[in-house]
Amino acid sequence: MPPPPNPAPITHGKAGGEHLDPAVAALLRKDDAGLVAAVVQQFDTREVLMLGWMDEEALRRTLTSGRVTFYSRSRSEYWRKGDTSGHRQWVRDVALDCDGDALLVTVDQEGAACHTGTRTCFDGRALPAVRAERPGSTSNSGSDSVLNSELNSELDSELTGELDSELTGELDSELTGELDSEGA
Ligand SMILES: [Zn+2]
Repeated sequence: MPPPPNPAPITHGKAGGEHLDPAVAALLRKDDAGLVAAVVQQFDTREVLMLGWMDEEALRRTLTSGRVTFYSRSRSEYWRKGDTSGHRQWVRDVALDCDGDALLVTVDQEGAACHTGTRTCFDGRALPAVRAERPGSTSNSGSDSVLNSELNSELDSELTGELDSELTGELDSELTGELDSEGA
């Protein structure tokens, strides 16, 4: 009886002979570079940690290995989060958005998600924005004193994120596209 085969080595590039499930691949609406945006969120605190990019192979690795793998547009290579920084991302869930051009990857993040050392890529980078209330909203009635303002704003972001995901997705892409080089 032959010995059991060795576990498959981690391959770089697409020479491994494995492919993303065609049924999954068919749902993707990739950009001209063959990529979809991947929003990464901490599973328990719901922190929005970062945004990266995945092609089919990066998604396949993410779905099958338990570790989040991105494709770096600036370096044209695969990048498994945490391999150099130790700040690994352990996959909990992966969801595709309504039109297939974005992924929500829910993870358990070790340490800082951002290569600058902050927990999320969005720490301390708030832009001046008019803060508006939805007509009829009672969220500012003061009755929800259990939630602090930080939680409130996170919840607001999650709720409204569904409504203007297309708009903010474009903005996010523009903003984070410049930061895509973080190799941590
Ligand atoms: Zn960052």
